[in-house]
Amino acid sequence: METQAQTPNINPGDHEVYMRLALSLAEKSPPKPTNYRVGAVVVEVATNKVLATGYTLELPGNTHAEQCCIEKLAKEYDVETSQLGQALPSEVAIYTTVEPCCLRLSGNKPCVERILDIGKDKVKTVYVGVQEPDTFVSGNSGSLRLQDAGIEVVHVPGLEHKILEVATAGHNTDQAS
Ligand code: ZN
Repeated sequence: METQAQTPNINPGDHEVYMRLALSLAEKSPPKPTNYRVGAVVVEVATNKVLATGYTLELPGNTHAEQCCIEKLAKEYDVETSQLGQALPSEVAIYTTVEPCCLRLSGNKPCVERILDIGKDKVKTVYVGVQEPDTFVSGNSGSLRLQDAGIEVVHVPGLEHKILEVATAGHNTDQAS
């Protein structure tokens, strides 16, 4: 049985540890040529408790990591995802290995909009490991949109190489050789 919500060794404010947790989740995502393997963690700011974890394609459908976290939380609080802002009892921080998307070619709701639905009163900070590469959608302004809405976006440095390696593991790299 998985015990992914138990993270006894994380010290308050240790952003790299949360980012490593998100990265370990990304590694659970099935490699595919058409999307990034991303991991995300939602942490309660006051207690540093991990409230939800998610990774790309964890839930049925073409699901993103942040989306999985949000849908799992909404289920836990027994509300629609659009009502999660009211349902969450306190401020949270979201850690995601790759900057949240602001446009999806599939027409699905971008993760930035899902985060904005929760709102700045509950989502205090979004910590990102890398900005989204331009492979699928160029000029991702996810961070800008979040910042414009009053949500802090903080880059957690140091894991970029591994994050991108995991994110693109299913992509065809034979063309370069
Ligand atoms: Zn997304």
